[in-house]
Amino acid sequence: MEENRKHAYWIHQKKEAPESVKGYFYLPQCSCSNCGAEVNREKTVCPNCMALMDLEAPKEDE
Ligand SMILES: [Zn+2]
Repeated sequence: MEENRKHAYWIHQKKEAPESVKGYFYLPQCSCSNCGAEVNREKTVCPNCMALMDLEAPKEDE
């Protein structure tokens, strides 16, 4: 029997970096898109809500 497993992705935190071309860089810390739990590095499964982190994070280019 299949678990009713959620799917989510990691939202990486950004840090302002004026010396960088983009003006910021991504921190290893990231939050679960499903429950918002913060972890200090990407994991395959969210340790808080057990969502499977196999979704593609939406690109933000504006
Ligand atoms: Zn989660």
